[in-house]
Amino acid sequence: MKTVAILGGGPAGATLAARLAQSGIRPVLFADGKAPELLVGESLIPAVVPILRRLGIDERVAGMATPKPGVSFVHPKAAQDMDFTFDSVEGVLPTYAYNVPRPAFDHLLATRAEELGVSAIRHRAQVEPDGNGGVRLTPESLAAAPLLGGKQPDWLIDASGRQRLFARALKIPARKGPRQDVAYFAHFQGYHHPKAPGQVIITRLEAGWSWRIPLPSDRLSIGVVLDREAARALGDTPEDRLHAAIHADPYLAPAVATATRVTAVKSYANYQLTSKQGFGPGWIQLGDAYGFVDPMLSPGLFMAMHSADALADLFLEQPQGPNAQALRRYFDQLDDWLRAWTELIDLFYSGRIFSLQAAGERILQVTRRNPVPRMLQKHLHSHIACMTAGAWTTRHYSRRLIRFASKHLIWGVPPAETMAIR
Ligand SMILES: Cc1cc2nc3c(=O)[nH]c(=O)nc-3n(C[C@H](O)[C@H](O)[C@H](O)COP(=O)(O)OP(=O)(O)OC[C@H]3O[C@@H](n4cnc5c(N)ncnc54)[C@H](O)[C@@H]3O)c2cc1C
Repeated sequence: MKTVAILGGGPAGATLAARLAQSGIRPVLFADGKAPELLVGESLIPAVVPILRRLGIDERVAGMATPKPGVSFVHPKAAQDMDFTFDSVEGVLPTYAYNVPRPAFDHLLATRAEELGVSAIRHRAQVEPDGNGGVRLTPESLAAAPLLGGKQPDWLIDASGRQRLFARALKIPARKGPRQDVAYFAHFQGYHHPKAPGQVIITRLEAGWSWRIPLPSDRLSIGVVLDREAARALGDTPEDRLHAAIHADPYLAPAVATATRVTAVKSYANYQLTSKQGFGPGWIQLGDAYGFVDPMLSPGLFMAMHSADALADLFLEQPQGPNAQALRRYFDQLDDWLRAWTELIDLFYSGRIFSLQAAGERILQVTRRNPVPRMLQKHLHSHIACMTAGAWTTRHYSRRLIRFASKHLIWGVPPAETMAIR
């Protein structure tokens, strides 16, 4: 049996490690042991739940999370909010998801991997090019894992997230997304929540958008995602910028009128990027280390865990490690997922989803007695809900339906550009 070392113990690395261990392959997991107070990735989608069940931790996650019934999109120019509940995915996926305190969630995943027999090494792994298009552990990192017996592992998996260890070592270029956003976020207590408990709220801001994610211990995670220039105009520090963005918004300001910020403010930038090469001789990139598209619809943890799950299946099919053909197929599928999320997210950024909703409402008013428009609207709504939940995101029919509807069914309402998120 081949030896596998996974570098990074976040959702991608810990899921792969646990799944391999469940199947009798015992990888070495390098986890740097960092436990920051705050981490983004707090809102999960229903498609994560089957993976949690496979790992045997769904109940433990339920015990540490806030149940998330759905997501609402609030647009100041829209006549009404767009409320999605996960009831719409009944029969396709579990009708629930979670909002999780990320550091605790990561800790649980890593604990589960160790329970299943994974050897976790508390060490910040380092790699260097091996001169043949691959990477190897530096002597210091190799020595940190006595189980490897001084021998380089047969397979190295980069699950280091945005550190992108292998891409940096091998100078692999990345495709960048179109937005130059920066995100600021913190937790608040004593807030007002205008939707159902646990419901995530996404609001279009003057220049960007915001998230509100209810968490356990009466915490609300508030994040603002802003164009870099717009962010600079709001102040000098992340605290200034987050507070200015919140207080300038007519929806966010009342939510925190009586609230207290209970954590530091954390910033993220440059996160829309995907590697141009995902694997090479003896190495594979996983999760954010390979690519991440955008946080708006919370695809990150699902993609990290789903890609780990699928990679574990490849190792089970080919215990010597997946061959190039299998890996090409795997990355083709992964790229299709990332493209599908990008298309879906663009529906929101471009404003087309809000125009579609307005056009639908208008048609319903005009054709009150005709059941067909209502049926069509329900059909569209359920496809969008199933796509955002991670069930039908890559389905051809759903993608074509949304493309068609957002191109041909929008009339009699202001153009989508006026509803776009800047
Ligand atoms: C602004 C923003 C908001 C987001 N919101 C959401 C959301 O609500 N829901 C969602 O699902 N996703 C969200 N995401 C995305 C999500 O956070 C990521 O997609 C997800 O964390 C990826 O998991 P990962 O395991 O690939 O990487 P990470 O979570 O980054 O894990 C990598 C791990 O490797 C460790 N590591 C790094 N280098 C080394 C090393 N050399 N040696 C050992 N260990 C190392 C790190 O400390 C970390 O523990 C958001 C992202 C951004 C930027």
